[in-house]
Amino acid sequence: MSDDTRTAAPLPEDALRSARLLARAEAAVMALFATRAYELGWTVRSKLSGILDHVTLSCDAGHSTQVTPVTALHPKLGSTIVRAPEGSVFLLEAGMEHMAMPGTRKLAAFPMALEECEHCARKRWEETASASFAAYAIETDLRILADAASVNGYPAKQVRCLHGHEFTITAMNPRTPGRLPGGAYGFTTGSDGAGDPCVTCRGISQTPKLVEFRRRAHEQDLMILDVMSDHILQTVRLCCVAGHLTSVGINTGLKRELLCARCSGVGVRPEPTVYYVVTDGAMVKPGISSGDGRGRLDTHRSQHGLGQVRRLITDLPVGAARDVERHVLDCLASQGIRPVMGSEYFRAAHTDRVLELADGWFAANLPNFPWAATT
Ligand SMILES: [Zn+2]
Ligand SMILES: [Zn+2]
Ligand SMILES: [Zn+2]
Repeated sequence: MSDDTRTAAPLPEDALRSARLLARAEAAVMALFATRAYELGWTVRSKLSGILDHVTLSCDAGHSTQVTPVTALHPKLGSTIVRAPEGSVFLLEAGMEHMAMPGTRKLAAFPMALEECEHCARKRWEETASASFAAYAIETDLRILADAASVNGYPAKQVRCLHGHEFTITAMNPRTPGRLPGGAYGFTTGSDGAGDPCVTCRGISQTPKLVEFRRRAHEQDLMILDVMSDHILQTVRLCCVAGHLTSVGINTGLKRELLCARCSGVGVRPEPTVYYVVTDGAMVKPGISSGDGRGRLDTHRSQHGLGQVRRLITDLPVGAARDVERHVLDCLASQGIRPVMGSEYFRAAHTDRVLELADGWFAANLPNFPWAATT
């Protein structure tokens, strides 16, 4: 029975019915296409005819593009039956000829679905990324110093990282989601903007000798007074926990145990027994020292202008200075208070908080300890 149906000659009514069906299918595709184009913000600029005919679309800003309805809706299928627009065609390598477009032997094209206007999407991203630059600067501990001359047509700022490196940066947040590929923004971080924006800091963190120098300086409670570069031949000035001012080549320093030349000379590592808080009205710095602490305080005054001594507690039992220092820094970090320079210099607005935390620690741990508070 079915065999009979298949072999039977087509009736004139069948031809009419299939033409009607085809017309209906085409009308459905055109309706879908028109809706999709509208959703993506395009206006149809040419007369809609067949599903395989080119249509010109334009966005609100006047950018235009050409597509065929079938390719716009089904790029893979569409690219096999419609000629790809010029510019998206490329030459196939030998052995890949089976991927060729119909009617060609060696040409292929990327299937392109209709998307929103790329120019406009890019512009919207740039606007969002510019608006969130200030938030990005806070997130990455960059201080904005001034407007800078732009090198690529985008706004630029002169900034300084926590470690004192100054550089120019495109004033856009590279972490803004939805970034389109391309765009010469000159970001210093990778494509997702996840990394440290300071190239020098990244260079330091990738140089084992510099990482080790910093680690030892921190462990020996040394202040590095110069901005570190990413070169191991640099000589930097140090102020040790006893307040000795010395300078050392990074390579040389790493060859001995104590980085401070004077401490190294006598072979004694000073024990911190002093806790202090100094300020200048702009920044506040809590810290530790040994002896009478005067060497450190003088250095803060001459190097950073931190001349007001708000707390100076000397002759602490072994371990106490480090404990109170850790307590204060941990509490500040857990309260979201970020340093403005290095890891222990904070905005002066936090002075009361710093004093409160230190006084609280002394009241709880050394209640009968005599200490001098200068206010
Ligand atoms: Zn546009
Ligand atoms: Zn840096
Ligand atoms: Zn020393």
